[in-house]
This record gives sequence, C-alpha cells and structure tokens, in this order.
Amino acid sequence: MTSPTRTPDTTPADRDARPQVRPAAEGWEQQRTAEGRPLLQFASPRVKQPPQHLADLTLAERQAKLKELGHPAFRAKQLSTHYFQHWTTDPERMSDLPKAGREELVEAMFPPLLTEVRRLRTDDGNTIKFLWRLFDGALVESVLMRYPGRITLCVSSQAGCGMNCPFCATGQAGLTRNMSTAEIVDQVVAANRVIAAGDLGVTEHPDERVTNIVFMGMGEPLANYKRVMAAVHRFVDASPEGLGMSARNITVSTVGLVPAIRKLAEEDLPVTFALSLHAPDDELRDELIPVNNRWKVDEAIDAAYDYFRKTGRRVSIEYALIKDMNDHAWRAALLAKKLNQRGRGWVHVNPIPLNPTPGSIWTSSEPEVQDEFVETLRAAGIPTTLRDTRGKEIDGACGQLAAAE
Ligand code: SAH
Repeated sequence: MTSPTRTPDTTPADRDARPQVRPAAEGWEQQRTAEGRPLLQFASPRVKQPPQHLADLTLAERQAKLKELGHPAFRAKQLSTHYFQHWTTDPERMSDLPKAGREELVEAMFPPLLTEVRRLRTDDGNTIKFLWRLFDGALVESVLMRYPGRITLCVSSQAGCGMNCPFCATGQAGLTRNMSTAEIVDQVVAANRVIAAGDLGVTEHPDERVTNIVFMGMGEPLANYKRVMAAVHRFVDASPEGLGMSARNITVSTVGLVPAIRKLAEEDLPVTFALSLHAPDDELRDELIPVNNRWKVDEAIDAAYDYFRKTGRRVSIEYALIKDMNDHAWRAALLAKKLNQRGRGWVHVNPIPLNPTPGSIWTSSEPEVQDEFVETLRAAGIPTTLRDTRGKEIDGACGQLAAAE
C-alpha cells in the first residue's frame, strides 16, 4: 500500500548529532525461520488448554452446562454472583445452594486455574506483582497498581510471548501457549479478592475493586484474539454475567497485528486501543519489532487511525525510549508528521523510559533527551504524556515480566 502523502523513511546521516545504536550493531541477533524471515511464534491449536471454567462461558452457556449436569438453570446466576460479585469459589460460602452435591457442582464449574507462587510489593504496598502457576506448570504474572481514584490491573494474555521484541523480557523467552478466557479473567477476580481483603495499600472506600484493566502483561493479546475478546466480554458484561466494567477502562495493547486491529475495530466494544510503535521509520522498526517485517509502520498507523474513526475512541501510541536508538528528536518529528498526516485529535503518545531487562545492553534515554522528545511532539500538536512506570524495583514494570521462580 502506498499513498501519495507517505513520508520517506530514509534519513540523512547528519540529521542528529547523537549516535545511532541499532539492535544488530549491539550484538542482538534476530531469531529467524528456515526461510530467513524474523521468527514470530503463534500458539498451536493442539496445545492443551485448562479445564473449562464458569468464566469461559456466557450466562446462556452456563445455564446450558448446568442443565447438562442435572441442575436447574437458575444455578448459573447464583454461581455467577458468587464469582463475579463476591469473588468466591468456596462452597462453604454458598449457602444459597443445596448442601447435597454443592462441592461437586463447584468443582465442575470452578476448577482452580491460578495458583499463587509469589507476591512482591513495592510503592508502600500500592503495587503488587503476582506470579501465578497455571494447570500445566506455565508461569504468568500480573501487576496490580493503586492510583488516586482508580485501581489498575495489568493482565497477561499468553504464557510467554511469540513476538520476539529484543528489549522486552517476555519476548526473549518465547511463547508457551495462549491463556484461556477464564485464566485471563481469574487474574482480575483474584486481584479483587486481594483488594477486598485490604491488602493493596491504604483503602480509599469499602467497595473498591479493579477499575481499569490493561492488556500489557505477558503476551500479545491480538495473537490470542478469540479468548481475549471473550475475556473483555466478561469484564464489561453486566453483573452477574460479568464484572460490569466500562469498556473504555479496558486497554488492549498490541505490537501491531494489523488484520486483528481491523477486526477489533468492528467489534461493538469501545475498548481503549494502544499501539506499541517504538519507531516511526521502518528501517529501525524492522529490527526492533520483528512483526514490522509483516506489517509496516504506515499500515499499523493507518489501522490505529481507522480504529479511532470507527469507534471514536482516541488511541494511544506507546514508545519505549531507548538511549541513542529511537530517541532522536528527528524521530519525534517524523512520528508527529505521520500522525498529523492522518488527522488531528485522534491520538496521544505515551513515551516510556525503557525499563531494564536481564542481560539487556540498552538503557533508557537521558532525561534531557526524553524532554526533548516529548517537547518535539507537543510542539507539533500531539498530546504527549511521559508515562510513569510502576514496579521497576520488583521487575514488574512494562517489559520486565519474565515469570521465573
Ligand atoms: N504485546 C503487547 C502488550 C504487552 S507489552 C504490546 O506489545 O503492546 C506492554 C508495553 O510495554 C508495550 O508497549 C511494550 O512495547 C512495552 N515494553 C516492552 N518492553 C519494555 C521495556 N523494557 N521498557 C519499557 N516498555 C517496554
């Protein structure tokens, strides 16, 4: 796809006085397929998924399953209320169910999915990172953060990640498998339990729970499209079918799987959309984001713009600032130009100082360089917020989730 307004990506060498660091020049070697293309892993449909759980199903499907198990359909609502309103799967607390057969029913509808392996706290207890073991031994993490007036959970959608981005700890470990819908949902319910127990910093009011969900934990959510979308439905479905959250408080972040972004725009679910761009030029992005070899910068930005046009939701561009690699002022100017070419008021940019990852040779940009990057975008009329990332001390910040014991 070429358009007459397309910006040339070639840049004069003297454009910026600072050096140009590139992943390959720093000793990072992109893994490649036998045909020489950058390796991207997608989960095999043959990999075993966990047992079916109530949260995998819509209310109608729950009713059907209960009937199949020989129970009245109205039990579906009762069980859903226990899980989605009281965060409980404990038969002892389900006194509205007949005692006979209660344990078996609970066992059938709520097979345990997440086993807590470890919990790390920082920010005076306002940030907690959880390490979970799944039924097959796979490990995933989620990060819970209290902010004034809102509580955000960063959830994982895959065990590992197949997108192979060199600066991200998750990407370096490869993909194990897709998470099931209920495994994704159960991270939120588990977090709500922790909040209800008063274990996240200082409680602001008694009915607190997770208000915002970001798919920025482990995995590429759009590579696990069906299960992630079903999880989003559980988040927004009215109680007790789901959690009754607002779609705008749910952020789906992607490395740029363009066909899936277009599909997402067609869903009747106005979630907040974030594109992890990290470079406005294909020359660098081809190395930094292997998926760029399939869908280029302009295609990804076009898809993000069309998401805005379809949904009316302003989209976010994520941009990890890596010292001397992608943080040059000319790149901020090129990014602004590409965004402004599509229109005004449809996007904001979130630069994030790179978080350190084990064995990584790259560091975050100098503060003055970060400021210059932000100012260049703002001067071009692009709303820009430098993101404060939480949880660095516990390896719980963006790109640091590696889920090791
Ligand atoms: N796969 C999805 C979501 C997971 S990552 C995606 O790529 O968007 C969430 C965000 O953290 C992404 O924008 C990702 O690029 C960013 N990120 C990854 N590694 C990082 C690091 N070391 N420092 C800062 N941000 C990082």
